Amino acid sequence: GNSLRSNAHEEKIFVSIRLRPLNEREIANNDASDWDCINNTTLVFRNSASERSTSPTAYSFDRVFGNDSSTRQVYEEGARSVALSVVSGINSSIFAYGQTSSGKTYTMSGITGHTVADIYDYVDKNTSRKFILKFSAMEIYNEAVRDLLSSDNTPLRLLDDPERGTVVEKLSQITLKDKDHLRELLSVCEAQRQIGETALNEMSSRSHQILRLTVESSPREYKRFENSATLTATVNFVDLAGSERASQTMSAGTRLKEGSHINRSLLTLGTVIRKLSKGRNGHVPYRDSKLTRILQNSLGGNARTAIICTMSPAHSHVEQSRNTLLFASCAK
Ligand code: ADP
Ligand code: MG
Repeated sequence: GNSLRSNAHEEKIFVSIRLRPLNEREIANNDASDWDCINNTTLVFRNSASERSTSPTAYSFDRVFGNDSSTRQVYEEGARSVALSVVSGINSSIFAYGQTSSGKTYTMSGITGHTVADIYDYVDKNTSRKFILKFSAMEIYNEAVRDLLSSDNTPLRLLDDPERGTVVEKLSQITLKDKDHLRELLSVCEAQRQIGETALNEMSSRSHQILRLTVESSPREYKRFENSATLTATVNFVDLAGSERASQTMSAGTRLKEGSHINRSLLTLGTVIRKLSKGRNGHVPYRDSKLTRILQNSLGGNARTAIICTMSPAHSHVEQSRNTLLFASCAK
């Protein structure tokens, strides 16, 4: 409906923070929480390790979700309107940003599922237009792009198409039969990510995963005054590499290579987002990394963006949490 539409030129990047609960290991280590959500938009830092009562620091964002929030709530208030703009022909990207084990995958997989359910609801109720949904999935590891729906592990090339912009050559695109079909494909992606990887965690902390849903719609029959155009748009669900990869200096050999490449995609994304959030003057360096090239049509311009920054509440992670908040502050 119309409520999903908005003036893209006034649109800012929607930035939320999500705190996860302390995990068992953190509790066993007497690691305390440093952070309190005092309302829907304000997060407060109180140093749990300090005896002195220093004055707390407040951070505000579009939305702050405490450790008791559900993923449905994060979806509804932090991602839903941005994700569903795809049915109105508007491209969008939803990002999960944060250090490894802060809850990116937990949050993003839930948001993906809720979005698809809502899109199918919308499609089923819409009697005037017919819809086709297509799904693609890729991973960027070491600046190499791989298809998560294909068993061929050859890195894919990026091509510049004069009409469509950057295109991932030979990327599989599967037309969805129904919701369950998507669930099947998601498990194919999961299996594909694990091939040849003994340390999946290590891999997922270094790679970016992009799940991409394309929605095409056209009118069932021509009616005067109704939108007769065919609309095509894409929503991207981006589970980023651990943000510690953006700050960490790597030691030697392949680690250095992997580290520096991951730095490149994450750092470039940071620069692109900072530039976009400060208005549209000046050069936006989309072309400096694979991630930002692939997302160029869904980031900036008329596209809509939501970023969910996930955080561990534990005092032992305070440095990384502060880095995450710094990124989040630059994006809003
Ligand atoms: P990341 O993808 O950032 O490395 P994960 O999403 O894998 O982190 O989360 C790490 C662990 O914490 C997982 O076991 C996950 O189930 C759990 N977890 C993350 N966020 C939450 C949350 N909000 N509530 C409960 N458990 C969570
Ligand atoms: Mg993960």
